[in-house]
Amino acid sequence: MPLVIAAPIGQGGGMPQWSCAACAVEYPETDAAPSGCVICRDERQYVPPSGQKWTSLEELEHSGSSIRINEVEPTLFSVVAEPEVGIGQHGLVVSTPAGNVLWDPPGFVDEAAAEWIRGIGGVAAIIASHPHMYGAQVSWSRMLGGGPVYVSAADRAWVQRDDECIVEFSGSLEPVPGVRVKTVGGHFPGSNVLHFEGADGRGVLLSGDTIFPGPSQKWVTFQRSFPNDIPLSAAVVDRVVTATNEFDYDRVYGNFATPCPSMRAPRCAGRPTATWRGCAETSTT
Ligand SMILES: [Zn+2]
Ligand SMILES: [Zn+2]
Repeated sequence: MPLVIAAPIGQGGGMPQWSCAACAVEYPETDAAPSGCVICRDERQYVPPSGQKWTSLEELEHSGSSIRINEVEPTLFSVVAEPEVGIGQHGLVVSTPAGNVLWDPPGFVDEAAAEWIRGIGGVAAIIASHPHMYGAQVSWSRMLGGGPVYVSAADRAWVQRDDECIVEFSGSLEPVPGVRVKTVGGHFPGSNVLHFEGADGRGVLLSGDTIFPGPSQKWVTFQRSFPNDIPLSAAVVDRVVTATNEFDYDRVYGNFATPCPSMRAPRCAGRPTATWRGCAETSTT
């Protein structure tokens, strides 16, 4: 049953808080728009041929953006900006008795969404899988009481809007008991996955595009750049897979996860990855 939230509120006065119109990653409050988006200039993303454009939370709000929240499965909710903002990721809220975690926050937030999240106990932590998914992470934190936004140390330099809520971590993190985040690298050096136990007692992996589930729900892929189709080496993929195999899981949700492509595989080192490696190394056609 979709929960439709459509009551944006103001973000306050003062200087605008800029967001890249292409990727929706937030930038600091400044009088003038930033000169360019370093996320989009990187080879893993792209500046649209029409050029760099900027928006702001205020502008998005006034143009009618809102947040839709859906139950993906018991204890997991997607948080999606509508109309699509930036890359258009589906943020995910993992709800546990010990506290909630917001993963891959969208590039837009409004008071109604914050109120809904407060209603299920707020969030103990906000964390993105990688810099493309930083979205409006500082704005989300401020709207939800200033809780920590965890950032992989290896990707710390990609944070454009710095704030006291940003907390660096290295290796792994358990922001609330039972929710574990691990930096496994690949797409970005600091790319993360998140693991928790679903209501059915089976492991659930949130992978962003560190491990990207395909629409067949039987296949995952790995890329340095998805929009530019820049591959990762088999050695790097092996490293990502080995690091992720610490976790037992039954299904994977990537960063466009409503309805979520899921992959019922006990471990990512199973057939999908073996097939990927086989194609990368032996395909001759
Ligand atoms: Zn950008
Ligand atoms: Zn990405």
